[in-house]
Amino acid sequence: MTGAVNIARVVVDVRTKALDRTFDYVVPTELATPVKPGHRVLVSFGNVRTLGYVMSVIATRMKGDAEEERKLKPILKVMDEEPMLTEELLRLVDWLCFRYVCTRLEAIESILPGVFRQEKETEASSVVVLHAEQSPEDLERAAFSKQKRAPKQAGLLRQLARDGVMSLPDNGVVPSDPAVKALVASGHASLKRLEHIPEIAASLSSENEEGERTLTPYQERVLREVSKALDNGREAFFVLHGVTGSGKTEVYLRAIAQCLSQGKSAIVLVPEISLTPQMVGRFTARFGRRVAVLHSRLGAREKKDEWIRLRRGDARIAVGARSAVFAPLVDLGLIIVDEEHETSYKQEETVRYDAREVAKWRAKSGWGVVLSGSATPSLTAMHEVAQGEARLLTLPTRVNNSPLPPVEIVDMREELRAGNHQLFSRALASGVEAALSEGMQSILFLNRRGYASFLLCRSCGEVVLCPHCDISLTLHRAGEDPHLRCHYCQHRSPVPQRCPNCGEDALRSFGVGTQQVEQEIERSWPQARVLRMDVDTTRKKGAHQQLLQAFADGEADILVGTQMVAKGLDFPKVTFVGVVAADTMLAIPDYRSAERTFNLLTQVAGRAGRAYLPGKTVVQTFRPEHYAVKSAARHDYSSFYREEILYRSRFEYPPYCELALFVAVHEEERLAQGAAARFEREVLRRAAAATITVLAAAPSGVKRAEDQFRYQVVLKYSSWEAVHDAVVGAYGLVYDRLRRLKGYAVLDVNAGRI
Ligand code: ADP
Ligand code: ZN
Repeated sequence: MTGAVNIARVVVDVRTKALDRTFDYVVPTELATPVKPGHRVLVSFGNVRTLGYVMSVIATRMKGDAEEERKLKPILKVMDEEPMLTEELLRLVDWLCFRYVCTRLEAIESILPGVFRQEKETEASSVVVLHAEQSPEDLERAAFSKQKRAPKQAGLLRQLARDGVMSLPDNGVVPSDPAVKALVASGHASLKRLEHIPEIAASLSSENEEGERTLTPYQERVLREVSKALDNGREAFFVLHGVTGSGKTEVYLRAIAQCLSQGKSAIVLVPEISLTPQMVGRFTARFGRRVAVLHSRLGAREKKDEWIRLRRGDARIAVGARSAVFAPLVDLGLIIVDEEHETSYKQEETVRYDAREVAKWRAKSGWGVVLSGSATPSLTAMHEVAQGEARLLTLPTRVNNSPLPPVEIVDMREELRAGNHQLFSRALASGVEAALSEGMQSILFLNRRGYASFLLCRSCGEVVLCPHCDISLTLHRAGEDPHLRCHYCQHRSPVPQRCPNCGEDALRSFGVGTQQVEQEIERSWPQARVLRMDVDTTRKKGAHQQLLQAFADGEADILVGTQMVAKGLDFPKVTFVGVVAADTMLAIPDYRSAERTFNLLTQVAGRAGRAYLPGKTVVQTFRPEHYAVKSAARHDYSSFYREEILYRSRFEYPPYCELALFVAVHEEERLAQGAAARFEREVLRRAAAATITVLAAAPSGVKRAEDQFRYQVVLKYSSWEAVHDAVVGAYGLVYDRLRRLKGYAVLDVNAGRI
């Protein structure tokens, strides 16, 4: 082989840490598609055939004799006509590696949907959507009559009644599923192909398609600022602070329209939980087929189709959860981050990226605008405003000017003093009773599942612990036999009659969980119908939606649940919301617990009286003076922010610095501890002292989990660029050593952002 040859630098899809490098392959001249950076290719590696990703292509002149050159293998096949990874996404791969300390393969795996990482196309002929053909009322009636004979059909009907549409897995079983077949045969539903999803979603939306409604003066003002930035074509960051119902989504829609009219594209990020057909419907009603929805419930083939539509520019707007930030759009003009304060924007496994940071990176790299909206902006976002890195825009009132519901704080110490030793204060009880007597609904919220959080021996003080983890076992008592369960590793054991330590018959349960609240409701109001929603009742696929549907249909008077009930739910008949214990979150030893409490309480308090009926909220607490509780009750974001930011600055927590968390994990405590200590020393040795604070190696919050010991080191710094080399050097060293000893280590950069 002589003359000019192209060499492709390829990341091969073979997973070992040691292989974070590229391998050179010859580009054969006879390939039908010229190989470009970003192409997926098929290569042989060792003695296997594997997929690879072309990082770059280099033209060289070969002399035809060098040993090296003859050893180079050829690229066997180019998988797609156009490279799936755009030039910008390739640069993003490098940035992800730098920012989150991952391999290039891991970064690519985060960006590309899983289906692109298979060599074989999944031949899915059955990309379908089951679409309602009757009114929700008719479907409900049908569901009711089928409940006994055909429960599966009934379940599908209920879901259709609520959502109007559902996509079915594309594994070929769909048309042969007898329940689906029966529904289609009986005319309740029809099967449609994927291309119709946007039309269907749009048909479910009450949106005015032309978007003709006049904006409120506040919306006008906000939009003017965003428009100016879009016209400028320069990078710009906005934080949009507006309560629920203040018209944020309307602003998003207008901004997107303008972005499209400039020939640019947009991404809309929402928390997964709010990716409902109604929400998607608002976007598709305005923009039709220009919207691609990236949904975790999409089948492999559908995901691939949506990605390709975006890649080709057939779709110009990507709507989806966290990973939609990687949408392969070119000319990206606008990224919207809705509910910006949601912790789900941070990925909690490798690659531990934060979609909000990726959004910023993409805006910077392409001169785009980021618009982050929330009723309770994160401290990080507001700090960026204070630093002049982002601009604050506000929508101070609801569009329909309806007031936010009044919130009453109940001091549970007072309640005890008044002789009430019950779980429910008098105010909470009368709130539930008022709703019951008016035929309305209540939600009771408690951030703790199970019956009681631990068993304590009143004789010797022993708490019953998980044999595999250093945490107490939770008492469960609903439905099945009472038992103890570990909320970390799911270990189960029977409830001991006597204390395992001293043998006395003195075990008592402490710490109320949702099951106990449910039992207490049944005792206090035997006539009331109760539903409970927590991890234990929503384990089965679809159970979450079914419970919500049942409550929305008025099948229960009271919904008890954990934070699942707090987010994004909108039930017009709910007039009372009770927070059983606001303190459970405050008690968590994390500097973010006040912010989390404030966010959650604000969300919960917004649940009552959403539609036309006035609502009321009661918050029970032992710490009524706490500023997170007080300001949430007054719907007063700014006073919360002022208190909280002072505390962060005094103790030097984010946003005044960035936190990285290193955790060493090993079966033997000594080795986990040793690795963490080694990491601490290595960072100190390598980094300039002024750039970083290294907290001493210490056991993690849960020191032993699933029989593995965990020791951690917390790093505080203000510039990742300044400490990167030192931290990554130390990490690499300790990581390799731990791996050889059959343990592992984790490094979570920017672990402390909400
Ligand atoms: P948010 O996203 O802040 O919760 P939305 O954009 O959903 O607020 O607006 C709340 C409700 O008010 C929606 O039903 C929306 O259709 C309606 N709405 C928004 N802007 C206007 C407007 N300018 N005129 C009339 N109705 C509006
Ligand atoms: Zn356990």
